[in-house]
Amino acid sequence: MNDKDMLEEKMEDTNVHGSDGEDAKNDQDEYEKICYVCRRPESVTGTMIAMPGSMNLCHDCMQKAFDSVTQGGLDLSKIPNMPYMNLNLNDLGKLNSQDFDIPKKQKIKKRSDKESKPEMSLKDIPAPHVIRQKLDDYVIGQEQAKKVISVAVYNHYKRVYLADKGIIDEEGNVQIEKSNILMIGPTGSGKTYLVKTLAKLLDVPLAIADATSLTEAGYIGDDIESVVSKLLSAADNDVDKAERGIIFIDEIDKIAKKKNTSSRDVSGESVQQELLKLLEGSTVEVPVGSNQKNALTPMTSVRTDNILFICGGAFADLEDIIKERLKEKSSIGFSAELKDQYEKDSNILFQVTNEDLRKFGMIPEFLGRLPISVTLESLNKELLIRVLKEPRNAILKQYKKLLELDEVQLSFEEESLEWIAEEALKKKTGARALRAIIENFMLDIMYEIPKDPSIGSVVITRAYLDKKGGPFIEMRS
Ligand code: ADP
Repeated sequence: MNDKDMLEEKMEDTNVHGSDGEDAKNDQDEYEKICYVCRRPESVTGTMIAMPGSMNLCHDCMQKAFDSVTQGGLDLSKIPNMPYMNLNLNDLGKLNSQDFDIPKKQKIKKRSDKESKPEMSLKDIPAPHVIRQKLDDYVIGQEQAKKVISVAVYNHYKRVYLADKGIIDEEGNVQIEKSNILMIGPTGSGKTYLVKTLAKLLDVPLAIADATSLTEAGYIGDDIESVVSKLLSAADNDVDKAERGIIFIDEIDKIAKKKNTSSRDVSGESVQQELLKLLEGSTVEVPVGSNQKNALTPMTSVRTDNILFICGGAFADLEDIIKERLKEKSSIGFSAELKDQYEKDSNILFQVTNEDLRKFGMIPEFLGRLPISVTLESLNKELLIRVLKEPRNAILKQYKKLLELDEVQLSFEEESLEWIAEEALKKKTGARALRAIIENFMLDIMYEIPKDPSIGSVVITRAYLDKKGGPFIEMRS
């Protein structure tokens, strides 16, 4: 056989194998791979990962399994039923039960029965003026918001107290509605900070979730119950504690109903719909020790009746909707010059009505579950300067404390504070910008000062910030 013949034979061989392979492939193509965990077919999930034992896993479920592993801080062999996967059956008898122990983080604190539950007394609930005073220590400005929230929180916990006593559902009693709160305010005006401070001073667990990451059940993203799951882990898996906690859902404006869309709105209106049942109070099944449900995480049920929900958002285009409404009203009357005034008003959000929010894309049922709404003002230069100086943990106080340890006194010229506030205003991210601006110029100071032990005090001058001079330094006498 010459070379050519050999080559032809080889090619024939390859063809035969090739067509065989094709047949087998066709056979396989008739059946779709199904994910072992979520049971979705490959056409929906994308390419599957083949596992030993003809098991296929989709990327989502694989990711969820890894998430639960890393979040729980456990290794694969500690997951119940996983050890079997790599096990020689003869070794089964040698396994001791602790190999299958559910890791601590996934354990749920037992729900206390009514009798053993510590009685909540009215005295435990701080009065509105006390809540307000404590908020004042940390949150600058936002006077109206602090007042409204103090009262709402006081009423909320009174309601919890009545529910504890079992008198809320009795016939003839006045029903106190849930006082969930809607917080409207520009970025960096202190929405998250207010809620964090509130949870700290009330000593209740807090979960902060981002509405943009939430999607309708069954779609990629966190499902709605994951917010309750977060709260449960903030309460160290103590269900009783979690049921009195606070859930803050940020960026709520991002789940407004989309205008002119024909596609299914999985992250907007339908998320609002799904949130309804949490807001009004229901019992939800949530995974413990992970915020995603999968076959490997234990579940528990949590009632959301007594959880205080606070939803916050910047509602950027809301201003235009309000202005439009106000202008329409004024053009009917004779106060047309008011129009100009509305255009200039930087705190027009204070005039918001439910109708405006509906126009914005929030569904009426959703708004109905958030009976209290507060508006936060955008922080102006004076307020930003106060944010720098006054809160208990003010940034300037923190830097002063750090340099005190080197026995150096740090101070700031009033003009330099103005400079920082002006820079922050340019960035349009409210008080958020302050820290980055300060860190920028403080880096050199924090680096250079400890070099020279004879330095006794440093004054940050406006000239230094303008790069026209240096800080004012005094030596130890
Ligand atoms: P947002 O309104 O976007 O949720 P944040 O609450 O996250 O803003 O604010 C960012 C940071 O700015 C906070 O951590 C806090 O240090 C500071 N801050 C914002 N507003 C205030 C305020 N009114 N009083 C004191 N600090 C504030």
